[in-house]
Amino acid sequence: MKITKIECIPFLVPSRRAGGAPGPGLRYESLLLKMHTDEGIVGIGETGETPLWYTGDSVESVIGFVRQTEKILIGADPFERERLVAQLDRAAKYSNQALAVVDCALHDIVGKKLGVPAYQILGGLSNPKIPLGWVIGSGPHSTPEDAALRAAEAAAEGFRSIKLKVSRRPVEHDIATIRAIRDAVGYDVRLGIDANGGWDYFEALSALRRMEKYDIFMCEQPTPWREIDNLARLRQKVGIPICADESATELSHVLQIIQRDAADILFIKLAKAGGIIQAQKWVAIAKAAGLPVMCGCMAGTGLESAWQAHFLAADEWMGRIEQENLGVLIVNGRLETVKTPVTDDLVKNVPRVEDGCMYPPDGPGLGVELNEDVLAGFMTTGKAPVTVGA
Ligand SMILES: [Mg+2]
Repeated sequence: MKITKIECIPFLVPSRRAGGAPGPGLRYESLLLKMHTDEGIVGIGETGETPLWYTGDSVESVIGFVRQTEKILIGADPFERERLVAQLDRAAKYSNQALAVVDCALHDIVGKKLGVPAYQILGGLSNPKIPLGWVIGSGPHSTPEDAALRAAEAAAEGFRSIKLKVSRRPVEHDIATIRAIRDAVGYDVRLGIDANGGWDYFEALSALRRMEKYDIFMCEQPTPWREIDNLARLRQKVGIPICADESATELSHVLQIIQRDAADILFIKLAKAGGIIQAQKWVAIAKAAGLPVMCGCMAGTGLESAWQAHFLAADEWMGRIEQENLGVLIVNGRLETVKTPVTDDLVKNVPRVEDGCMYPPDGPGLGVELNEDVLAGFMTTGKAPVTVGA
């Protein structure tokens, strides 16, 4: 089998409020990749949101990557995923989100050709249901009461872990929010925080010491991404486990974080790691050091969520902790997909989410079918699709 043509289609995902109602006009800039083969099988991949500050990629850079690596991709056998990903990784530095969307389409093609769900080609169904953790943002107008209400809704829906974004507001506001969430959900639900690198070392030390008494199960990326040694220093001084997210943007960083004793938990995303083939290597290194791995998502549709669900279902180590594969819920404004089915997503059959758990689709490949009518309505004005190959 050979790859004959790749379509890169920029699109915008509208954000919706709870219940699927239109959101405040926010759109997530994303890219759909359609990979065609000489056997008529078409694999699909989605970047999810492309925030330059987080992944270093944009819709334009992903298109540039596909154009620049055309000689590697066109004519290649999609079954040779390991060789192909290694070749692309050598050809393009710091292009993990672009590499990831290619990886997504490759897994769809191979599963479709073999007639099996992608998890079957990744190790089989290790985790038939994937417990999810919910994430609560900290916008400029959010109040502790809002956050507590949202935490209570998530806990009532079956989520056993909640993560609050912190550091964007004064520490007093963050502490008041943590207290309100604890008052609302008690201590049976795990409560983590994510500072996204927003504190300096001293601010983090002070904030975390004040938060310790609320039984915070981890703090993700308290200090800026380059400061691996400050993560290590904080670990020595506070009783809250430290999680590395933005500090790990390359496979070699995972090793550095472990060697410098800088984290208790590792946070990945397939878009950050460069796809499933690459993420398996990140997880193997973390597992060797005994670090649990939590996998988040970009704001993406049911396509991105399905791809991640296959990875999470197949890897035994990923079944040790709640996962944050929430894209399909976030963009569709829902906490589950059964009682209130999603009918206007990029894919027709979004993954099942029920009682705070996601289930990997069991159709061939990624197990989701593109909703062409919805895609037509999501197309980005002023950004034309680009095709490479025949
Ligand atoms: Mg994070």
